[in-house]
Amino acid sequence: MENSGLTLWFTGLSGAGKTTISKGVASQLKVRGYRVEILDGDVVRTNLSQGLGFSKQDRDINVCRIGFVASLLSRNQVITIVAAISPFQDAREQVRQMHKNFVEVYVKASLEVCEQRDVKRLYALARAGKIPEFTGIDSPYEEPVNPEIVCDTQQESIAESITKVIKYLETREYIRAAAVSSEEPNFNAIYK
Ligand code: ADP
Repeated sequence: MENSGLTLWFTGLSGAGKTTISKGVASQLKVRGYRVEILDGDVVRTNLSQGLGFSKQDRDINVCRIGFVASLLSRNQVITIVAAISPFQDAREQVRQMHKNFVEVYVKASLEVCEQRDVKRLYALARAGKIPEFTGIDSPYEEPVNPEIVCDTQQESIAESITKVIKYLETREYIRAAAVSSEEPNFNAIYK
């Protein structure tokens, strides 16, 4: 199982923390020597999916394209990290079916909190009617039915969420457990 490649698929509202957590997970994996690629929704939309809009149909095509590229990478032993709103359950299910190893991570935060964070100032524009079909405002977000991992970014710190994902990958033996603990050895136990 180990190092057989997998796709880690982060889904959630804009501003929930997908990019932040996925970058943290990617850098930890790289330190451990794994080959990692991030497919970030915002970046993908400027190249792979340039010209697509935000109707359900276009969103599904976007997710399907990302899923296809992710499946190619992951079957070649790359740990592929997708960070994309991917709001529709059926499209997420479809990309899951394209994969042998697929881990869905629901990055969970309420619309209110995402709107307060408004990292990219997009919610303000959407509320002002300047961005139509904005997820959470006038386009739906369907919560994952059975995600492998939930990162609740209202309850957990960024570091906690990153650790949760890494631990999951270790437990499922997608990656090796971290080698050595930095803790002092327990001499009492050794010399008892
Ligand atoms: P998304 O990729 O889901 O649109 P981003 O990662 O771009 O979201 O933005 C999330 C914002 O929320 C960042 O500014 C991040 O610092 C902040 N944030 C606050 N708490 C958390 C947390 N526990 N986990 C992740 N992000 C958090």
